[in-house]
Amino acid sequence: MAGNLTDRSVVVNRRPMSLLERLYLPAIFKGMLITFSHIFKKKPTIQYPEVTRTFSPVFRGLHVLNRDEEGRERCTACGLCALSCPAEAITMEAAERLPEEEHLYREEKYAARYEINMLRCIFCGLCEEACPKDAIYLSETIAPANYARKNFIYNKADLLIPDPKNNIDLMNMAKGIPVK
Ligand code: SF4
Ligand code: SF4
Repeated sequence: MAGNLTDRSVVVNRRPMSLLERLYLPAIFKGMLITFSHIFKKKPTIQYPEVTRTFSPVFRGLHVLNRDEEGRERCTACGLCALSCPAEAITMEAAERLPEEEHLYREEKYAARYEINMLRCIFCGLCEEACPKDAIYLSETIAPANYARKNFIYNKADLLIPDPKNNIDLMNMAKGIPVK
């Protein structure tokens, strides 16, 4: 005879049900009582999107690719973020900066293509921690819902912070700094 895996097995009571039990009335009243007791309690439901819950101070949302003060892309396509990503959500292709592109890219090498698959991402923040150039960080914006899987592949244009030379307000908004 096979032994029990644990010592928590309980002998099932198979006695015949009484008349009251067969009517199910006590069980129904007990259930109704529980339902009514919840009617006057404070509702935990939040009417999203009209009302939004306050995020935790350590909330990690959508990624942003950062620029320097002159508006140049900080990312040097070193690949450390992709290497550190446990979900293998980051893909990139590096390119050499041309002399006439010095105003666009901070380093001699830059990410010609940079993609994050938000369906894979677990928002752990390891990419942000691994980056030696302060080029990527997780903002306080949530990834919006979408019907198509391809729309969850965020490319460089989706991720790059606005150029501060062109729109300082948009850049501050992306960084979570209040616009004056
Ligand atoms: S937050 Fe984590 S899972 Fe998402 S891209 Fe960065 S390292 Fe990968
Ligand atoms: S975001 Fe940072 S870690 Fe990732 S490739 Fe660019 S410079 Fe390297």
